[in-house]
Amino acid sequence: MKVLFASSEMYPYSKSGGLGDVAHSLPLALREVCDITPVTPLYRFIDRKKFGLHSSGRVYMLKMGSKTYRYELIQAKESDTLFVYNDILCETEALYGYDNDGLRFGLFSRMVAEIAKKIQADIVHLNDWHTALAALFLKAESIKTVLTIHNLAYQGLFDKKVLKKLAIDKKYFTMESLEFYGKANFLKAGIAYSDRITTVSPSYAKEILTVRFGCGLDGFLTKHRRKLTGILNGIDTVCFDPEHDRALYANFSANHVGKKAANKKAYYKNLGVKERKKPLFIFIGRLVEQKGISVIAASLKDLSAEPLEFVMLGEGEAETEKKLSELSEKYGNIHYLKGYDEALSRQLYAAADFLLMPSLFEPCGLNQMIAARYGAVPIVHATGGLKDSVFEEKKKCIRGIVFESYSNKSCLHAVRRALALYGDEKACLKIAEFDMQCDVSFRKSAKAYMKLYKEMTA
Ligand code: ADP
Repeated sequence: MKVLFASSEMYPYSKSGGLGDVAHSLPLALREVCDITPVTPLYRFIDRKKFGLHSSGRVYMLKMGSKTYRYELIQAKESDTLFVYNDILCETEALYGYDNDGLRFGLFSRMVAEIAKKIQADIVHLNDWHTALAALFLKAESIKTVLTIHNLAYQGLFDKKVLKKLAIDKKYFTMESLEFYGKANFLKAGIAYSDRITTVSPSYAKEILTVRFGCGLDGFLTKHRRKLTGILNGIDTVCFDPEHDRALYANFSANHVGKKAANKKAYYKNLGVKERKKPLFIFIGRLVEQKGISVIAASLKDLSAEPLEFVMLGEGEAETEKKLSELSEKYGNIHYLKGYDEALSRQLYAAADFLLMPSLFEPCGLNQMIAARYGAVPIVHATGGLKDSVFEEKKKCIRGIVFESYSNKSCLHAVRRALALYGDEKACLKIAEFDMQCDVSFRKSAKAYMKLYKEMTA
């Protein structure tokens, strides 16, 4: 079985969040069981030299309406990943956020559809709105398509003028197809035309059928619900491995979880914290409402009065960044680190006793899995993938602290329970040790995807 796996971002080449991680680790796990080719754009900021990506001479022309677009296919020597280079798509400083994103990713979706035909794929696995249009472009082909929704809040909404540029017939601008309140909705096209739809946790698959979490597409998804399944993500446990992670001050494993303490000690020294016994709580993520940022902001005053250190790493809305910077100036034990820093995030997971993840909604969430792997006990709001992966019950993976209602009161209560747990050093260490041994790899999810692929081609 031949699968083409398309994603707008792919670690280690490009990543803005969980999609980049998954687009790296899921094909890696699937490679064991099927013939899979990941495909992603070769953005200008990707270091061609470092990854051994040289011009291939495989240049193709894509005619769309009155225009012809040139693209090149490039492959690294020791990797199966296929890179697409087209100047409109790839000559940007960042991944997203440009006026012509509709054209950029519409083009990428067209190219993905062309590549699928060229390599005679049986299945094309699409991810999020950036590649969703390929389902429409492949509608008349025998190639099957599956669309994974990593976050329904991002749908790729554009002025309908983009359809002409992408040579998409006006007949598709209807409510049953890609029209959405007068705009073109790329994700909606994927929902309408892909053979199967998956989302990244079973709970989120149910939640997106409700008005509260459906982002305006709950009715449309309900119509297509027979195609929908939820498969929980995993992480690349080789890449996220505290025993060998070079970014850490001290490596450690579940068998020697005590060694983890050296990471906190080093980090506290760096931070100027004298009371080394204090528990370290961390938050890592995009500073958006989804991640529970208003609950965190509203809790900071109370948290500052507790015997803990709280470090937040992230970037996002300018106003939130400013507010967090001000509050971290005001409260000595609250620290806000602005930015996106992969190595620092790993050092934080290794140093932390607890990860705070009070997301308003969370399709899957990877941070709680990374935290478990690094022996930081997750504290989560019971929603989406967090509900499916963190449990209070003994012997259930991952063990953590779960709070039901989305409020700063519940969040604070959960933090205080964590502090009580921390008071019992042995019990706390036991949970960290247990979590480090939980199977958070992509093994189980890859099996579920393979089953789905088989059903699709049966
Ligand atoms: P998202 O909704 O952003 O995709 P996920 O939990 O699925 O959230 O994945 C987030 C990924 O991005 C994790 O690997 C996390 O460690 C990483 N990450 C998020 N923000 C930062 C940051 N500021 N610095 C480093 N890594 C980050």
